[in-house]
Amino acid sequence: MSCSIYIHIPFCSRKCSYCDFNSYDNPEISPLEYVDLLLGEISATAAGFALQPAATLYFGGGTPSLLPPAQIARLIAAVRQSCGLVDAAEVTLEANPGTITLESLQGYLAAGVNRLSIGVQSLDDAELRLLGRIHSADAARAAFALARTAGFRNIGIDLMHSLPGQSSAAWQTTLREAIAMRPEHISAYGLTAEEGTPFAAMVARGDMLLPEEDLAVAMFELTAELLQQAGYDHYEIANFALPGLRSRHNQVYWRREAYLGFGAGAHSFSRAAGYGVRWENPAKLAEYAAVIMAGRGIDKAAPISRREAMAEFFFLGLRLTAGVDPGRFSEEFGVAAEAAFPGVIERQIERGLMVLEGGMLRLTSHGLLLANRVMQEFV
Ligand code: SF4
Repeated sequence: MSCSIYIHIPFCSRKCSYCDFNSYDNPEISPLEYVDLLLGEISATAAGFALQPAATLYFGGGTPSLLPPAQIARLIAAVRQSCGLVDAAEVTLEANPGTITLESLQGYLAAGVNRLSIGVQSLDDAELRLLGRIHSADAARAAFALARTAGFRNIGIDLMHSLPGQSSAAWQTTLREAIAMRPEHISAYGLTAEEGTPFAAMVARGDMLLPEEDLAVAMFELTAELLQQAGYDHYEIANFALPGLRSRHNQVYWRREAYLGFGAGAHSFSRAAGYGVRWENPAKLAEYAAVIMAGRGIDKAAPISRREAMAEFFFLGLRLTAGVDPGRFSEEFGVAAEAAFPGVIERQIERGLMVLEGGMLRLTSHGLLLANRVMQEFV
């Protein structure tokens, strides 16, 4: 099986107020114990598959840059040995500006990381404080400069817009400065209030107000316009890349290609049987540790039904601005897309949300704004 590899590092110095990712700022097991568990999981899981070398490896979190380079090197070596990695593999590490030094960045590069994804989020100190980030705007600027000095030639930065109280002009200031830094990749997400987070509680109490939909839409449009003017290819709803520098790993998810996820709460997807199988590791560290130490392996494996796979084809594939190929849908499912979703595609086209162009069905710019509502139609 050909697949990509994801490794979850669930540690953070402090939880950001808006974050619902599986991460812990006061974990019951140490990072070094966790790396040992990961090494056990990687070798035991890989032995159960006939794997072709992976083309992408992604360290996500949490905050992977809390792990010292020597630990990242151990994990890359384990993946190389148990799963295989092609020579030109894309190896990405998510880094928080508050956790890195020139020395650690040089160490990651020497360990085999060749792509850095820096969680900048904003270049405004007041906004960073509001988000509960551990770093300042200057620390984010310094992190980017250090990454270049260390030798990284493929750097992505993550930004957030539609923050409480944020004006379009304030977002434009952050975005323009980010563009001037000339990272190879920019992800720009609108902030949402995720259930169970302190931020969502503040929004529910009325202590914080998210921007009105019109303003959020204006920020999304401004983002696409400025980044495209600056030469970035808008290839996914919230993702932009200089030519040839899209995230190879993230495209795997949107194209429904196989991936193995290691670590607490990590998800995996195999295309080996039927319409595919998904499974996830226990999210809580103690439960994850117990499962790995007992060698119990895969938890909650769930075969995907034909109907679910058809829906995924659209709601994942339509995230890509290139859209989806209805011919490939027919080949995979033995039925035309229009017949599988009677009236749905025609309705989206009539509303100006989708278009059939060059044999591909894709969201229009208006459809990208309303992507969640369009995707719902396929579920
Ligand atoms: S650094 Fe990232 S993963 Fe950690 S709490 Fe903040 S947003 Fe969540």
